[in-house]
Amino acid sequence: MEIERDGKRERVNVEGVFVFIGFKPVGRYLFKEHIDHDKNGYLITDQFMRTSIPGVYAAGDTRAQLAKQITTAVGDATTAVLHAERYIEELKDIERTFPAEPKEVAAETASKAELVTFAPGDIVLKEGDAADRFYMIIKGEADVTQSGPDGAPVVINRFGAGDYFGEIGLLNDAPRKATVRARTPLEVMALDRETFARLMKSSQATEDEVRRVAAERSRAPTPR
Ligand SMILES: Cc1cc2nc3c(=O)[nH]c(=O)nc-3n(C[C@H](O)[C@H](O)[C@H](O)COP(=O)(O)OP(=O)(O)OC[C@H]3O[C@@H](n4cnc5c(N)ncnc54)[C@H](O)[C@@H]3O)c2cc1C
Repeated sequence: MEIERDGKRERVNVEGVFVFIGFKPVGRYLFKEHIDHDKNGYLITDQFMRTSIPGVYAAGDTRAQLAKQITTAVGDATTAVLHAERYIEELKDIERTFPAEPKEVAAETASKAELVTFAPGDIVLKEGDAADRFYMIIKGEADVTQSGPDGAPVVINRFGAGDYFGEIGLLNDAPRKATVRARTPLEVMALDRETFARLMKSSQATEDEVRRVAAERSRAPTPR
């Protein structure tokens, strides 16, 4: 092979050639709305490889990062696939629980949800604490307790997969009325106050249903 170096031509014996024509990332053009990118066009992702569009992930050379290597590309892809799998499951749960939600709101809610796990006995939320999050159970069971007249906790409800809780404090902007504690290993999806508010605002049917459940739960509870 003949190469030119410092203005001088020379012949080099090689067994193969890698062609490198430079980088020109174009991933941002793949969707109608441009994915957030840096000034060179590389897609910006978080630690899970999520981009600014819910459900869209980026991995490898197209992503804004220091290394452009096979090792990092493969690692990125592994992270992206594992998280995407989780995102799809969360999206299905949200669509099942709130069927009236517009598709894009369900997608954004799933992308904002945080997966949190608890061991049996752990407290998820505590009576009297400020209400800051809404929860949906993915796996496991939780007991709901309220302080009885003597101050001892009384079990008033039990939640399982598909149930949600934490809505009363957020809807009324009031402290928690009860304690929720994991009864078994528990996996929940947690939504922050803003994401919950958006969910309520985007569908009257969803808000009516959540308010109905909250009103039912707020009536004088019967110990179990
Ligand atoms: C010459 C050279 C030598 C290298 N040597 C090393 C090395 O020794 N060690 C190392 O770790 N890394 C090396 N790298 C870097 C490594 O190859 C890359 O970091 C890695 O391949 C990135 O993987 P990727 O999947 O992100 O992108 P790519 O491997 O580039 O894969 C992207 C794929 O998407 C396809 N594509 C693009 N646009 C479209 C479209 N619109 N529709 C459908 N398909 C599309 C492309 O054809 C391509 O197949 C080298 C790179 C070059 C260029």
